[in-house]
Amino acid sequence: MTENKAPLLELKNVKTVFKVRQGLLKAVNGVSLSLYAGETLGLVGESGCGKSTLGKTIMRLYRPQEGEVRFEGRDIWQYSRREQKAYTQMVQMIFQDPYASLDPLSVIGDAVAEGLDIHRLAGTKKDRENNIMALLHDVGLNQSHVDRYPHEFSGGQRQRVGIARSLSLSPKLIVCDEPISALDVSIQAKVVNLLKKLQRENHMAYLFITHDLSMVRQISDRIAVMYLGSIVEIAPSEDIYSKNRHPYTRALLSAIPIADPTVEKSRKRIVLSGDVPSPVNLPAGCPFAGRCPYAQEICRTSQPQLTEMEKDHFVACHRADEMALME
Ligand code: SF4
Repeated sequence: MTENKAPLLELKNVKTVFKVRQGLLKAVNGVSLSLYAGETLGLVGESGCGKSTLGKTIMRLYRPQEGEVRFEGRDIWQYSRREQKAYTQMVQMIFQDPYASLDPLSVIGDAVAEGLDIHRLAGTKKDRENNIMALLHDVGLNQSHVDRYPHEFSGGQRQRVGIARSLSLSPKLIVCDEPISALDVSIQAKVVNLLKKLQRENHMAYLFITHDLSMVRQISDRIAVMYLGSIVEIAPSEDIYSKNRHPYTRALLSAIPIADPTVEKSRKRIVLSGDVPSPVNLPAGCPFAGRCPYAQEICRTSQPQLTEMEKDHFVACHRADEMALME
């Protein structure tokens, strides 16, 4: 699906590091990936694995110490002032808790129009109002609620407001940072369906960050699994569920509850032992070696590189070949 196309977003060996009291915290440790126009890439991993930092690095909120973030072929840190402004229009973010990013004293209409106002795209008062109404309609919110305040909305409705705000600037890419984690399961599916519908209509790309491997399947074309700052497996969505090769991907998948109680009872869960190492003190070899049931001597001394095992299916594991045979 990806050959012959130039990526919309390309990360090359990106390292985002923070100085902390104990030393250097390597939140993102050498991530390379591409994202194509109109595509959804799911980015999955436990909390603290660096996925939100990666999202913010793409948003240009953190400057990587090494590597490049390229958008439409240009390094985003080589931008002129004008290009920087254009980038803040083309790339938007949806947050886990939209309430935190909404001004409690601003009505929803003003919140939705904030981007339009900042970038002076609203035109006349009438244009601005039409824009707000169209955006509320697009995200399934009642237009008569335009003068209501954030606290008058439910969590799901507030997330729709967040989505309307990000859509207002017709972005090419939206970084969705745990956009459904705070919502009830029934509402999660509705928000995911809304995002899919909007993507079909507007041909945007999504980077969909989540710790939950069950819902991400519904929306992602490809999924990247992140552990301790590194991508350990990246593949077309269905391959992640049916042909996964990394022990960490398998452990994450085994934790997904199954709706059928009989099947759920017989579900084999891979319980990982050992602690996640500190990102300040990364191990020399595979970052997963301390918790991996398949670790061997080489895993503790040499870091496995992401390698293409099948078309578009990359795995960072010394035993990826054998893993294909081990169920
Ligand atoms: Fe496990 Fe070794 Fe593969 Fe790392 S490289 S995931 S420790 S088998």
